[in-house]
Amino acid sequence: MLGLMQDQPLLISSLIEFAERHHGDAEIVSRRVEGDIHRTTWRQVASRARQIANALEEEQLLFSDRIATLAWNGYRHLELYYGVSGSGRVLHTINPRLHPDQIAWIANHAEDQILCFDLSFLPLVQAVHAKCSTVRKWIALCDADKLPADSGIPNLVSYEAWMGQRSDVYAWPSFDENSASSMCYTSGTTGNPKAALYSHRSTLLHAYAAALPDVMCISARDSVLPVVPMFHVNAWGIPYSAALVGAKLVFPGPAMDGKSIYELIEAEKVSFAAGVPTVWQMLLGHLQANKLKFSTLKRTVIGGSACPPAMIHAFQELYGVDVLHAWGMTEMSPLGTLCTLKNKHLEMSPEEQTAIRMKQGRAIFGVDMKIVDGNGESLPWDGKAYGDLLVKGPWVVKEYFKGEGGDPLVPDAEGRGWFPTGDVATIDADGFLQITDRSKDVIKSGGEWISSIDIENIAVAHPAIAMAACIGVFHPKWDERPIVAVVKKPGAEVSRDELIAFYQGKTAKWQIPDDVVFVEAIPLGATGKILKTRLREQLRDYKLPEV
Ligand code: ADP
Repeated sequence: MLGLMQDQPLLISSLIEFAERHHGDAEIVSRRVEGDIHRTTWRQVASRARQIANALEEEQLLFSDRIATLAWNGYRHLELYYGVSGSGRVLHTINPRLHPDQIAWIANHAEDQILCFDLSFLPLVQAVHAKCSTVRKWIALCDADKLPADSGIPNLVSYEAWMGQRSDVYAWPSFDENSASSMCYTSGTTGNPKAALYSHRSTLLHAYAAALPDVMCISARDSVLPVVPMFHVNAWGIPYSAALVGAKLVFPGPAMDGKSIYELIEAEKVSFAAGVPTVWQMLLGHLQANKLKFSTLKRTVIGGSACPPAMIHAFQELYGVDVLHAWGMTEMSPLGTLCTLKNKHLEMSPEEQTAIRMKQGRAIFGVDMKIVDGNGESLPWDGKAYGDLLVKGPWVVKEYFKGEGGDPLVPDAEGRGWFPTGDVATIDADGFLQITDRSKDVIKSGGEWISSIDIENIAVAHPAIAMAACIGVFHPKWDERPIVAVVKKPGAEVSRDELIAFYQGKTAKWQIPDDVVFVEAIPLGATGKILKTRLREQLRDYKLPEV
């Protein structure tokens, strides 16, 4: 017997319809590429998303055709999120920080038909357009009078000229909720990038889950600042969850420096912000240097790489901001776990609570996880046993776009497929996940494993250290030994021996790095994460002192 409830597909268009009807006057504020602040509302975004849908119809685009963006976080990008997916096409957000050759490769692989870009990426588009054979129209996200003359780009139009004159009357089509809605390529640190292809259903379920109190906890009372880019796994789903609850959205545009972010937080009374640790490092640096405080910011979700305890501590103790440590990945839309306390933890001392908050957190309903040993056997949830982390759920990939890389899933005894995350982790008895490392970054010393994250966290807890990256280097006896590359804070001093001494008592003796390498900068990848492959290349000729 089937249930007798209405069968309505979960579609992205329903989010924008809801936001328009119930939260039409909630604001969307953007810092534009031009530097000014632009204000609009969910009502206007909905209306302009329909104009985009009409413009796309005019282009004779087919269902599931890909429309790409090279754009910062801003209202036009948000309009495209809804206009493109809502009308049945697939929004392909490209990370502009990738190498131009990689961008061209991705656009060709995705077979993008139209590519929309912010004017700051004009030189990039000029460099790649000739190689993007499937793109038939280039749209500059600007007013008609800002369209650059003599750009050399064929079929270039301004966004406002392209969509501004269209009718805003459009009935969102209804179709299978499992249809593709958007796509995002993984950064592809090894081999060619592979794309996660999200569906309307996976996006909506993720949007519901992300808004929950124990997840991002966003509501119609929040002013939400996604610093995490809209090309980095859909800004962690915030553009969708914000519509689902009717939150105010604040977009930073290209200005990601500490001063610009701080000013936006204060001016727009931001209560909730989201970003990777490297961005928050700049923000904290700005606050400390200028003796500033936050007046409205309550919570921030930090993820994408391990959030150092020193950062969680600084936000909490110095600025009264709750840090929600999160873990996820492109293949998971991206949210997997988020760290909030349980009822039984409320009685604990602040120190004990802090120890829990350092972990990556508990699984969100919708995500199943397990850790396994080398034979695929499940390991106990005791907070000590560590192994490969596998996940499954309705917003986890089942395969990559065009079957790239073959079947990624690992079947269990019941034949259910689990996605191997490439992370090594422990899970404690309360279900709190702690990422030990990425499996390729873990340092294998004398048959034991050393977590590079632990070594980095200790280094950045030193007052003179701004950033740290730990890698393993060859050792004839132990196979590998850890060394730590560090960037000093401006004007601060610390010697190699002082930093090594700082590790005493903070970790097991055999885990203390063998050496410290002082560097001007640590290479960062396209999503602001430490790029260990490049660091290893840079330190290729490095030899351990005793070897
Ligand atoms: P990539 O960096 O491969 O392009 P993602 O942005 O999807 O792709 O990164 C996912 C990976 O980032 C995870 O598998 C994990 O290694 C790492 N990661 C994400 N969040 C955290 C976190 N809070 N702590 C530690 N590692 C994290």
